[in-house]
Amino acid sequence: MSDDNYIDLSSITDPSDFPQASLRFLDTLPRCSVCKDFFNTPMIAECGHVYCSLCIRRCLNMEQVCPVCRANISEPQLFKSPDTENLVQAWINMRQTLLQGALEEEKISSKKSGNVYH
Ligand SMILES: [Zn+2]
Ligand SMILES: [Zn+2]
Repeated sequence: MSDDNYIDLSSITDPSDFPQASLRFLDTLPRCSVCKDFFNTPMIAECGHVYCSLCIRRCLNMEQVCPVCRANISEPQLFKSPDTENLVQAWINMRQTLLQGALEEEKISSKKSGNVYH
């Protein structure tokens, strides 16, 4: 049915889901700067930047530089990053719960600031 068995992309939107700036920032960290989605098989380049395996390979096919910092990189200089992969998975797993909590908290704090409905 679905050709994507890794993550259900329809359930993922973007960092602006979070009302709090700190959580919004946190939600940008496990994302690939090429596709703006969560890392899919993260690969770390020699310059330290991380991309999905597919995204960075696609970029290197056109130009042998890092899309963010323009450092010269090539495919043999890409390394798998299982730690990043675990972090991404953990974040995806808890994101929904966290988002609910964040929205709830936002409701409470907006009530406190005077918007009380009866
Ligand atoms: Zn990507
Ligand atoms: Zn870089």
